Amino acid sequence: MTATKTCAICGKPVPPRPENRSYPFCSDRCRLIDLSKWLGEEYRIPGPRAGDGADQPPAPGAEEDEPS
Ligand SMILES: [Zn+2]
Repeated sequence: MTATKTCAICGKPVPPRPENRSYPFCSDRCRLIDLSKWLGEEYRIPGPRAGDGADQPPAPGAEEDEPS
């Protein structure tokens, strides 16, 4: 009943969890490779507002201003 899990990065058998800090990967290296893949894709998402008025606060008075 013990299905051997294989590493999603390199395809090697993954050691069981208690002795494997990098589960579900075979090693810390593969875990980091997977992590950096995710982070890399995330960082690559283009920010349309970046660098163009991103630092400008909203103009005062532009929001709802209840007349008294
Ligand atoms: Zn691996």
